[in-house]
Amino acid sequence: MRVRFAPSPTGYLHIGGARTCLFNWLYARANQAAFVLRIEDTDQERSKKEYLDEILESLKWLGLNWDELYFQSQRFEIYRSYAKKLLDEGKAYLAEDGSGAIILKMPQKTARIDDLIHGAIQFDTSLIKDQVLIKTDQSPTYNFACVVDDAEMNITHIIRGDDHISNTPKQTVIYEALGFKIPQFAHIPMILGEDGGRMSKRAGATAITEYRRMGFLADALVNYLMLLGWSPGNNQEIISLADAVKKFDIRSANKTAATFDRNKLLWLNSQYIRSTDLNKLAADLKPFLKERYAGQEDNFDGKFLISILKLFIERATTLAEFADALKPFFVKEVEFDAQAKEKFLSQDLSKEFSLLEKKFSGLSLFSAAKVEEAFRQAVAELGITTKQLIHPLRVALSGKTVGPGMFELIEALGKQKTLERIERVVKNR
Ligand code: GLU
Repeated sequence: MRVRFAPSPTGYLHIGGARTCLFNWLYARANQAAFVLRIEDTDQERSKKEYLDEILESLKWLGLNWDELYFQSQRFEIYRSYAKKLLDEGKAYLAEDGSGAIILKMPQKTARIDDLIHGAIQFDTSLIKDQVLIKTDQSPTYNFACVVDDAEMNITHIIRGDDHISNTPKQTVIYEALGFKIPQFAHIPMILGEDGGRMSKRAGATAITEYRRMGFLADALVNYLMLLGWSPGNNQEIISLADAVKKFDIRSANKTAATFDRNKLLWLNSQYIRSTDLNKLAADLKPFLKERYAGQEDNFDGKFLISILKLFIERATTLAEFADALKPFFVKEVEFDAQAKEKFLSQDLSKEFSLLEKKFSGLSLFSAAKVEEAFRQAVAELGITTKQLIHPLRVALSGKTVGPGMFELIEALGKQKTLERIERVVKNR
């Protein structure tokens, strides 16, 4: 068995294309079939190298490896020779305008396709106009090149979006004219945007690279794409590619459109972030940190990173948000959230903060436990409640009112930064 994914490099790889690729890939790996990647770059004006590179890069990032790679732009001779064969057999004719275009005569009959997802689809070929096979510039049309290649490459199963259903009757006629065996079709339902319309740029990001940039993990995104039109059953939502290969069956794909649900993707991503090996997570996070904080406090060392990311991991939804949350560790001066500053740092705290400064600077071991002990002593000496001091301290150190455990945060921040930030509050009075 052989399947293919056939993107046109006239745009970026988007969510729908990646999902089609994934279903082909799963089918191939589940059935020990070959997975062919075919670049449909017959439109030389609209095809761009930048899109091609991006498509290949996105597929690699998603982990969807291919076994064979073809470019239609290198196969024009093949399409012309098949068109010529149809001319010679009288099944096609040259355009009357002398432009050199080759056109297929449409037979008059009813035919049917047995789609693996939609079942039988009947159609009447007499309703279809004669089909251009080779255009005046001698390049092939999509339908013709697609059929010639699928036949030449021995593709047995065509898994693609159901926006192509309308092409399928035209393609079956071409298969028959050329005397090729018609493959199995499986048209997977569209993906709708959250507004119920076709998923579009307007309704949110669609390019895979954009999701990568936003800090979605490849494994989480692949898992999410899988659920757009298929389910492993038993309400299971988190499933690895390896596991999905064992369970995947194209016939169990949904017949109705799937709706893109960003919150679900975010939820899945947070689950994957939590279960990712910390060393890998630190490596994945590094580019996001560098992009934001390079040239400031460049402490992107793996061990340090792991110690701080542990503190925030439970709250992280994307790597970008994760990197934003780690800001206090990578900037010289913390930026105060305006409301937090107003609420917790507007009263005079110089006495309280001076005492904290004294207690903290006396610590030789700057551990969370020791810091907590010192903090509690200070609170007792001042005769105030923990709450009265802990919120202002958090804002002074991180700029925010919420975050991980205070004392763990202080330990991770280190003595020097902690004292500098306390000092800043004392001085600013
Ligand atoms: N190049 C076509 C597309 O991008 C492929 C369609 C097909 O799979 O036949 O939609």
